[in-house]
Amino acid sequence: MKLKKHLGQHLLVASGVLDRITQLIDPKDGDILVEIGPGTGNLTKKILTYPFKALHLLEIDPDMIRSLKENIKDPRVVIHEADAVSFDFCSLGENLKVFGNLPYNVASLIVENTVFYHRCIPQAIYMLQKEVAEKIQKGPSWLSAFVRTFYKVEYLMSIPSRFFYPKPKVQSGLIRLTRKEELPEIDLKDYKNFLTRLYSMRRKAIKHKLPEEVLLELSIDPMCRVESLDPEKLLLIYNIQQKVRGDKR
Ligand code: SAH
Repeated sequence: MKLKKHLGQHLLVASGVLDRITQLIDPKDGDILVEIGPGTGNLTKKILTYPFKALHLLEIDPDMIRSLKENIKDPRVVIHEADAVSFDFCSLGENLKVFGNLPYNVASLIVENTVFYHRCIPQAIYMLQKEVAEKIQKGPSWLSAFVRTFYKVEYLMSIPSRFFYPKPKVQSGLIRLTRKEELPEIDLKDYKNFLTRLYSMRRKAIKHKLPEEVLLELSIDPMCRVESLDPEKLLLIYNIQQKVRGDKR
């Protein structure tokens, strides 16, 4: 099959690496699994040797879908022609284990969509471009803060480009998102807007972006930059700002 660059089709072909990733995904009896971008099914086939309840495959490319339908006959597998950037994960169940070797051009958008559906996703294991993976884990970026409000993020391992076909220009990294116990009840779109606004011109002092009363209430140095505030603090700021807004109404 001719691989499509614009869909980020770099297949992971090293059997040893696929085995290691499968162990980390650790499929178990009763699990409802979701794989994003199964491609030709290299990782999928490894997963199939484990016990689990169901495996949903989300793939955007009709050619890949056709080949998956021909090659995978396991009754536990459901194949969806779908775009993982906007897919409603909660339509598949409320306790999903999501994983995938993500298409790198839209990997950040898929991670963002995962957060929007965090209510049904206690765990996700993603392979993405190494720098993107590291930045989600450590920041500074609005997406990192967004993810870390809901998930603990671990960087599991780096994967050199020689293990892929065709070989990508960049190294890859595997991360695991584990949902936190305590989840804030907030409007996710509004919280995303709040974070993107704070992180735009992130080197500017925070006093240019937040009302003085909010900074005072939390004893935040008005000259500090957004990148010095951890996700817990940002959530606190968001909640206080909501309160201040509410009081003014
Ligand atoms: N998991 C496979 C292939 C990874 S390549 C492997 O490791 O070998 C990325 C895959 O994601 C490709 O099959 C590509 O067609 C698919 N893809 C690209 N954009 C997508 C999207 N928005 N939603 C779902 N799948 C997508």
